[in-house]
Parts: sequence; structure tokens; C-alpha cells
Amino acid sequence: MNERRPLIAGNWKMNGLSKEGTALAQGLANKVREVAELPADAASEVSPLVSVALPCDLLICPPFTLIDRAVAAVVGTPIAVGGQDCHPQASGAHTGDVAPEMLKDLGCGFVIVGHSERRADHLETDATVKAKAEAALRAGLTAIVCVGETEAERDAGQTEAVVTRQVKGSLPSGATPGNFVVAYEPVWAIGTGRTPTPDEAQAVHARIRVELTNLMGSAAQGVRLLYGGSVKPSNAKELMEQPDIDGALVGGASLKVADFWGIVQSYGG
Ligand code: PEP
Repeated sequence: MNERRPLIAGNWKMNGLSKEGTALAQGLANKVREVAELPADAASEVSPLVSVALPCDLLICPPFTLIDRAVAAVVGTPIAVGGQDCHPQASGAHTGDVAPEMLKDLGCGFVIVGHSERRADHLETDATVKAKAEAALRAGLTAIVCVGETEAERDAGQTEAVVTRQVKGSLPSGATPGNFVVAYEPVWAIGTGRTPTPDEAQAVHARIRVELTNLMGSAAQGVRLLYGGSVKPSNAKELMEQPDIDGALVGGASLKVADFWGIVQSYGG
């Protein structure tokens, strides 16, 4: 039986100045307040009943510069805030980097690591991603580890081999269903409007769960596996209905309240 609570996460990437970032976070917070019938000035403690009023967990991952504002905008709602990357060290001489402890200190509960854009732009390897994920756990954050094949790897029939290798190489030690999420994001589907069929996506997710079971035992049944890559309101439901797809990591469509909310509603909210 699938008892995993779905998670819809928005990856804002390098988008938004203070005005639009604040408006986006406030817009989502207002949607949640409407659904949960919360007053606009709800206290900062989030009652578990408020979370239950939503069909899934919600997360937004703004750029570092907007995290403070996003945290302030969603206060009193169950919307979580996360970073898009972190450094493996807690502090030190690493100009331009951000430690997971710093994200935690700002109010983050999550951090994305190993996004394909970082693997490509910053030459991150599975070992780097694993070190970042372990640092996230050390700081008390939940790590969302991204994996996914390129188009050439898909065309060569290597999807499952690539994704299995990435999962194995990036799994942080100490991972549990409570502090670890995997996002399967085929690189060719990111920002392209193309997606695998729901059956194809399900097959890769099922493979990931088998690999996680090899690595972590029965705890793998509780780990949330998100699909990412051109998710939008019109295709979310058929993807989210798949038995091993426990939510979505959403890029472009997370930048508009209506689109992100439309994806949340694929869970009947
Ligand atoms: C992403 O980059 O995490 C992503 C899924 O992007 P998009 O939804 O725009 O394809």
C-alpha cells in the first residue's frame, strides 16, 4: 500500500527579483490560506490540521536571494521553503557558496542537490552530489537528489543503467524516508515541453525503487520519488497517478501561481 504523502516542489531556478518573488510566494500562501480557511494573519505555528487540509506537501525553492522573503511570505502556512544547492562544508573559504546550515538558519527544510543543470554547468559528479546530500542531512535538511538521463543516453537505451548508477552514487548515508527524496528528471524533458509517457516514467520510478530497496532495504518503500520535466496542469494528473510517482519537481510552471496550483490540484485539492 502506498502511504507516501505526495510532495509538489517548485524549483524557481535563477528567476525572480524581490518584487515578483515575494508576490509569487504570497500568492501561493494565499491559495493555501483559502483552502485551509486560515485567516490572512494566521499565527506562525502551523497546525497539523492545516497540512491535512491540503492534498499534498508543498515546497518552493527560490534562488538564495529570495529565501528570506519567501520564508516570511509563507509563515503560518504549511508551505516549506528550500534551497536549490548547497556546499558540502558547514563553513569556510568557499567564496560564493552557501552551506546547508545557512539554509537551515534561514528557515529552509529542504535542499535540491544534483540538478542536471548543476551537474552540467558545474561538472558535479555523483560523488559531489552524495557529499552535498550528506551535508544537507547533517544540517537537518531533507535532501532532494536529482537523477536523469540525457537524450543521447535515452536513445542508446541506457536510461535505467544511468539512473541506477546515479542513485547508487548519490545516495547519502543516513538516508531515511523522512530526510531523503529522489527526483527523476530526464534531462531531455526539462524545459522542453516533452515528457515520457506516464508508463515510461513509472517504469523508471519503479526501477529507482528497486535500486533503493537494494541499498536501504524496506525503508525504500517510504521514500518519495518525484517526477520532473515539463510538468504542467494539463499533464500532471496522469503522471501523478502512477503508483511509484509521489509528486513532482516543477520548474517553469512553478513561476505562476495558477499553474503551480493547477498541478497541486491533480491530487484533487
Ligand atoms: C526542473 O528543472 O527541475 C524542471 C523540472 O523544469 P521544467 O518543469 O521547466 O521542465
